[in-house]
Amino acid sequence: MDVRLLEATDDPDDLICRAARNDYAADFVVDEEFATVMDDIDGATVAEKRRNLITHLLDHGHFGPFEHPHATFGIEGISRSCMAQLTRHRHVSFDVQSMRYVAFDDVDPSSVGSGELVVVPPSTTDPDWVGRNQDAGSVDEETIEHRSAVFAEAVEQSVTAYQDLLESGMAPEDARFVLPIGTKVNVVMTMNARMLMHVGDMRAAGDAQWEIREMTEQILELAREWAPISFEHYMEELHGRKNRLAP
Ligand SMILES: Cc1cc2nc3c(=O)[nH]c(=O)nc-3n(C[C@H](O)[C@H](O)[C@H](O)COP(=O)(O)OP(=O)(O)OC[C@H]3O[C@@H](n4cnc5c(N)ncnc54)[C@H](O)[C@@H]3O)c2cc1C
Repeated sequence: MDVRLLEATDDPDDLICRAARNDYAADFVVDEEFATVMDDIDGATVAEKRRNLITHLLDHGHFGPFEHPHATFGIEGISRSCMAQLTRHRHVSFDVQSMRYVAFDDVDPSSVGSGELVVVPPSTTDPDWVGRNQDAGSVDEETIEHRSAVFAEAVEQSVTAYQDLLESGMAPEDARFVLPIGTKVNVVMTMNARMLMHVGDMRAAGDAQWEIREMTEQILELAREWAPISFEHYMEELHGRKNRLAP
């Protein structure tokens, strides 16, 4: 998969501070210099005040100001299974690559078992992979060879059938019914900083599936570069306490 930050609110940490200060300011914060807006906050410098206010808001559950900054991510090549988990989150805007209007008619079915068009789960090829709901860890080489062969054969057959149906004139929207749930999809999604932290709580957790966990961990790294004070504090102090951001 490839996860990229496409667009995001400029100076998100400043916007969070300005919005939060609005709640307690006699004057309208929109008309004030940022340093003036932050006057009453503890700290020797504006940077220190910014950090103090943001960490205070997060530690005390004052999450509203984190709903103002938004970020848009481009996600390439997650499975339809992962996409179904991701799109359960309701305060997120999505655009999802269509299988009604996009036909995968030029994919070579023999390359699908090695990652073309379909995501290959690590448990197909890694004998030491330990997944959730799995009793034991390692399996022997013979078992992993068997799994790899069954997986590759099944997805190759599925894509061959799909392309046969397309060639027979069936519309992509109907032919897709024979494709596996691991079929790759590209997604563009936008959410605010609070929701990003909530998705982090739910989907970068130990009980989330490996694929959405990997995707969310990449998103959180991008978020840390985007809004460093908010997401550094979130990662260090809040992350892992499930549902803290949306109890
Ligand atoms: C490990 C894991 C396993 C899962 N297994 C399953 C499963 O087997 N089957 C299944 O169906 N789903 C499953 N889910 C999905 C899960 O139940 C949620 O639907 C999904 O994570 C969306 O998160 P959310 O409920 O926090 O809602 P979001 O849409 O992310 O909303 C954020 C918050 O807003 C509030 N909110 C939003 N809408 C409402 C509302 N209508 N009423 C009240 N409050 C609201 C809640 O506080 C919510 O936490 C699983 C999720 C995880 C992380």
